[in-house]
Amino acid sequence: MVKIENIQHASDSLWEKCERCSEFEFMQTLVRNSYLCQYCGHYYDMPALSRLKQIFQNKFEKITLPLENDILICSGEGTIFGSQVVLIAISRIGELQIEHLDSFLITIQYAIAVQMPLIVISSGMNHSKSKISLSYITQIAIEMNSHKQMNLLQISVLTDGNMTDSLSTLFPLGDLTLVEWETEDNRPTTPSDAFVDHYVRRHEVPVLIGQLLSWSSDNK
Ligand SMILES: [Zn+2]
Repeated sequence: MVKIENIQHASDSLWEKCERCSEFEFMQTLVRNSYLCQYCGHYYDMPALSRLKQIFQNKFEKITLPLENDILICSGEGTIFGSQVVLIAISRIGELQIEHLDSFLITIQYAIAVQMPLIVISSGMNHSKSKISLSYITQIAIEMNSHKQMNLLQISVLTDGNMTDSLSTLFPLGDLTLVEWETEDNRPTTPSDAFVDHYVRRHEVPVLIGQLLSWSSDNK
């Protein structure tokens, strides 16, 4: 079910335009900087595969999904600071189709089978485009619940704090919710949103997940 692959970046374009400041950024620079705009500090939406590479620092085993090398959804198994986890990265979650949700379900079932914590990283919530049916939402919630019953940690990472409300209607956000926050200057010290446990800068996400996993296993 699992195989190792050399990952190539999926995008063909050399330049990407920042949706906030409209500056153009060289694609290779963006990839190197975890999709952070060097002009305004905005976090670009990351392709799913790039996200896996960022969190696992390039060392992981890709979980085989029905949509292979899909830009929107990708799953892998690997180690984050000593803890083994299953991770699913979802880019532009509002554009997911039924086939993507099969991939989501397979990943949760895989995490149950190997009895590992599950990390779900989502970006790009846009309800107007979403084609996610209620029956699928229910199935995902049931699988997430089965995973939780095994006393395995579930962590959600969102690229935008505004997503918590709409996303929590689609699937359970798990035990802990981290939201990526761009700059140190205006980051709230305590989350004002009840769904959010921590705000974190993108390059610090792997460290924070590692700390939370190790804290959780010490407290079992
Ligand atoms: Zn920018």
